[in-house]
Amino acid sequence: MSVSGLCQICERQRADYQCSRCGALVCEAHYDPETGYCTDCAAEVRAGRGDSGPR
Ligand SMILES: [Zn+2]
Ligand SMILES: [Zn+2]
Repeated sequence: MSVSGLCQICERQRADYQCSRCGALVCEAHYDPETGYCTDCAAEVRAGRGDSGPR
């Protein structure tokens, strides 16, 4: 078993990045460089914060 691992989201591509929120290892396609999160976390954070929307 290799520890380098596959993307924890798609489990098909090699994980070259790590989410700094949940720590998931993800491939380039599932990493959001803007936030440094995986796409799952990035979507959650964006949904929760509402970038420029009024409160
Ligand atoms: Zn992936
Ligand atoms: Zn994450």
